[in-house]
Amino acid sequence: MALWKYAALLVASCLLLLARPTLAQAPTADPSAARELDCAALDCASVLPGAARFERVEGSGGAAPFRVGYDAQGDIVGWVALSTDVVDIKAYSGKPLVTLVGLTPDGVIAGARVVHHSEPILLVGIPERALTEFVDSYRGRSASEKVVVGHSTDPDAVTVDVISGATVTALAQNRTVLETARALGVAVGVIEAAASVPGHFVQRDDVWTWQQLVAERALGHLKVSQADMGSQGDEPFIELYFAIADAPHVGKALLGEEQYAWQMQRLEAGQHLLVVLGRGTSSFKGSGFVRGGIFDRVRVEQGLRSILFRDTDYENLARTPAEGAPEFAEGALFVTPKGQLDPGRTFDLVFLGSRYNKKGGFSRDFNAFRGSLRVPKSVYVLDGPDPEQAIWRQAWVNNRVKVVGLGAYLLVIAGLFVGRRWLTGTMRRLQRLHTLALVTSFAFLGLYLHAQPSVTQLLTLVGSIIDEMRWGLFLSEPLLFVSWIFIAAVTLIWGRGVFCGWVCPYGAMSELLFRVGRLLKLPELELPEWLHLRARYVRYGVLALLVGTFLYSSELGERLAEIEPFKSTFFVAPWTRELLFFGWWLALAAASLVTFRPFCRYLCPLGAALALPSSLRLSGPHRRNFCSSCTICTRGCEPKAIRSDGTIDRRECLSCMECEANYRDHEVCPPLVGIDRLLQKQRRHGTLNEERLRKLEVDAQKVPHRWVD
Ligand code: SF4
Ligand code: SF4
Repeated sequence: MALWKYAALLVASCLLLLARPTLAQAPTADPSAARELDCAALDCASVLPGAARFERVEGSGGAAPFRVGYDAQGDIVGWVALSTDVVDIKAYSGKPLVTLVGLTPDGVIAGARVVHHSEPILLVGIPERALTEFVDSYRGRSASEKVVVGHSTDPDAVTVDVISGATVTALAQNRTVLETARALGVAVGVIEAAASVPGHFVQRDDVWTWQQLVAERALGHLKVSQADMGSQGDEPFIELYFAIADAPHVGKALLGEEQYAWQMQRLEAGQHLLVVLGRGTSSFKGSGFVRGGIFDRVRVEQGLRSILFRDTDYENLARTPAEGAPEFAEGALFVTPKGQLDPGRTFDLVFLGSRYNKKGGFSRDFNAFRGSLRVPKSVYVLDGPDPEQAIWRQAWVNNRVKVVGLGAYLLVIAGLFVGRRWLTGTMRRLQRLHTLALVTSFAFLGLYLHAQPSVTQLLTLVGSIIDEMRWGLFLSEPLLFVSWIFIAAVTLIWGRGVFCGWVCPYGAMSELLFRVGRLLKLPELELPEWLHLRARYVRYGVLALLVGTFLYSSELGERLAEIEPFKSTFFVAPWTRELLFFGWWLALAAASLVTFRPFCRYLCPLGAALALPSSLRLSGPHRRNFCSSCTICTRGCEPKAIRSDGTIDRRECLSCMECEANYRDHEVCPPLVGIDRLLQKQRRHGTLNEERLRKLEVDAQKVPHRWVD
């Protein structure tokens, strides 16, 4: 296949990813944002044993999203909350682990249960029971306890075991259960409110323009269309921008210098300035403001806390003086109650709107829409570690020894290629080191570290770059993060062969099985040349199919990615899996005994993805003019990467470097053998012609220009 066809495939894949409907939609509003915990549907009693009935809890902000449970005698047994009403903690899939948590009046976790998750490794790899058992281990723990997943040197901390192969999921689940239980405990008064993570507003002399406020993400945004409210029209039903205006460069921009100075002078410790600007056919101030002095259309929610505003917290903001700001129909400046809003954590502005009825008026059918804001570091700086970004840090601490071990091994492999003149100095040295690398990659990287990269990570990475780069997601798997940095670097320099031929744990296993088959004198099977030449393109089809599937459903894509037998090899014992997965793993392993790397050469989508940039590799095995007429290396090249004209197919080459060892071998490579013979003959006859010898040596090194990597 010509290079342009590969490029076209890659470009088409990227365009499809760009066109992915789920990525193109800006998540400005969530119509399901009215938080109601349906205890009958979710079986709240499963996490609060002894509770016979559940009731709403009324608070100053309306009904709270959690429920109180009573026993048959009418005594309080505890409370139940759904994690997604409290925290926004994304796990490996980028989606939350929706968990129901029960808490007793003593502040003890009565139970926890995962209601829904999208974790790929659990969908197709690690059994569900591993997560269930992990979550169960929180039963009976105090919600105030410091629970650390894996290892901790903190004497105050208790540790729980990680879910092997799903570290990020375990870290996210730990935070989900604990933070939900703590927020619930604080909300019902059985746990003391932990002080917010200390922080301070940035003090700058300049005043930001509207464009800077938007670019720095200092403004939250919430847009509700007419269609969202059951009507038609282009003008939004309501569009709100909101910000915490305590920092001078934000406050002066939105309020003007004088107003900002006046407000800051009145502001008491623990209070904050919240600016809300609105436009559209509706109003965020609402009718309730006139009736009872309460703003009934907007509120702030942070965790389980709901903040309603009264007229005493409010000042009208006729217009914002921010340079470049669009026109707004209305504006408000709210002062948040003392200690209620933590500017260091994400909070939501919730708009409650009534839908149009069929007669064109407003119905009593209210919908809640929410927009989130995490105040950026350029406005508010935490004085300690960010609790909302701590998962990946913890993952690195937990895995630091493994990361060092993996990094050192990968550096050694890269070092061998940097010094490949030495590596290929003798065939014996090369083959011994290659075998040692294959065994180490299979046993250390694969079986021990579970550091097997997969095409699904590549697709998630590309999707994430297009959607919104979430470095936390990739940093949270330190071993894979290091592996991918290595893959990117070596593939661009030497092609995919360094990873596929030396480091990939499954590739290593497949090649070792082939060698075992040879030792056992099993027959060696090879596809006929015509079929092999066509079959090697199948893997590009597999890659395209996976990309296409991922576009519409990452979960379905994950299931199809089971064509990679990696999970059955390194994460779950294959014989414990469904018959289909076990059979597929067994068939590939059996085929590897009699065929050189059958999965790598014909099916692997990751190999296909890495083969594309390998066409641009900077350096490959050395060749010389004479290679076009000699077939010594061609016959010895197991992946059949050397064409009949002596050139190397860079996408097929697995960088075993045996052809380069031949190239340097004065007993194997015909031009070198010829030169040596001539040298000996001329020495014998005393007719040594240095100039002619040098010319021969230079000729022997010559490579046609089109062969040069
Ligand atoms: S082709 Fe796939 S399985 Fe084979 S070595 Fe490369 S990445 Fe690993
Ligand atoms: S023998 Fe084949 S696979 Fe090995 S380095 Fe040479 S071309 Fe690549």
